[in-house]
Amino acid sequence: MNLHEYQAKELFRAAGMAVNPGEVADNAEAVREIAERYGGGVVVKAQVHSGGRGKAGGVKLASGPDEAAAHAEAILGMEISGLTVEKVLVCPTEEIATEAYVGVLVDREGQCPVFMVSAEGGIDIEEVAATNPDAIHKLRVDPRYGLMPHQAYRLATRLYADPALARQGAKIISQLYDAFVGNGASMAEINPLISTTGGEVKAIDAKVSIDDNELFRRPSIGALRDSGSEDGADAQAREAGLSFVKLDGNVGCCVNGAGLAMATMDLVKYYGGDPANFLDIGGSSNPDKVVAALEIITSDPAVEVILFNIFGGITRCDDVARGIVEATERIDIEVPIVIRLTGTNENLARQILADAGFTAGTSMDEVVQEAVRLAG
Ligand code: GDP
Ligand code: MN
Repeated sequence: MNLHEYQAKELFRAAGMAVNPGEVADNAEAVREIAERYGGGVVVKAQVHSGGRGKAGGVKLASGPDEAAAHAEAILGMEISGLTVEKVLVCPTEEIATEAYVGVLVDREGQCPVFMVSAEGGIDIEEVAATNPDAIHKLRVDPRYGLMPHQAYRLATRLYADPALARQGAKIISQLYDAFVGNGASMAEINPLISTTGGEVKAIDAKVSIDDNELFRRPSIGALRDSGSEDGADAQAREAGLSFVKLDGNVGCCVNGAGLAMATMDLVKYYGGDPANFLDIGGSSNPDKVVAALEIITSDPAVEVILFNIFGGITRCDDVARGIVEATERIDIEVPIVIRLTGTNENLARQILADAGFTAGTSMDEVVQEAVRLAG
């Protein structure tokens, strides 16, 4: 689950971190009032779950309330990476001397958190990573001991030659680690971590992703979810209890079991096709899940064919068949559907599908080839 900048900053503040102040608003008039209250210049920042807001025109500096309101007019309602901006964060402008990058995320290979820091932070960090990877320093943290003070200081010296700045940086790096672990995050990032012309180090941007598996024991964080600003298909899949990952191809896949879903995508690729998604409907016997899955797949305009690959173990093939029939009655499906289905109650399933005018194969190879052919 992704958090908005203003929410992530709250978690950082709760860890004691120096973070620039700010207030959220959803209309230009409120932005004007906030700017009047702060006095002086402010920055108006789009609150969407996307990086690169600055480059997209979603972060704008204003010299006073009128300009702030005008920027808010422009930014509210704007689309960034396909997401509509519904809220902005208004912060007093900072006098920036340097911009650094500090991030911590889960290193799956190392099975531990890993820090990444760079003195060359700011909006071009992706380019730094691509063209000058040596400017990014990494440190794996042993989760049994946590981030040691000397490690935090060493990381900070990669950012600041001045010991007074490095001490402040080390404190923020430690606080970032605390916020990361304490909130069940899979990623926590400050970009930029600034030093001001007055010699203060502070976070002026914040990005946090929470591991969904941590939410059950952190209801207060779960409450931060902003469903309205999430991708529609992702939210729908989560509500229906489906594992779904959108991909770039045109073969819509609906499979039971994560392993079989992976194998299906491999086979689609093997026969020259491109999967439109990973979708695991799970092991349950619930036709509603199939209906939800079909709704999600068909809402993707790139999909040219829908491929069912069902192995009936705990999942009963007849339930999936009923789901397919029910879904095709409920929603208008304009693309061909190919079905491979075998296992528990297979014969009954075939009968249900035949009555509704569908046929189902048993060979995974044949059915996947057929799907790839139909997808063009
Ligand atoms: P992002 O593009 O989505 O990562 O948004 P950021 O919050 O990181 O802002 C992008 C850039 O805007 C920063 O790297 C800064 O250069 C600039 N910026 C943001 N806030 C301020 C500010 O208060 N003062 C100044 N001078 N620049 C700012
Ligand atoms: Mn940023």
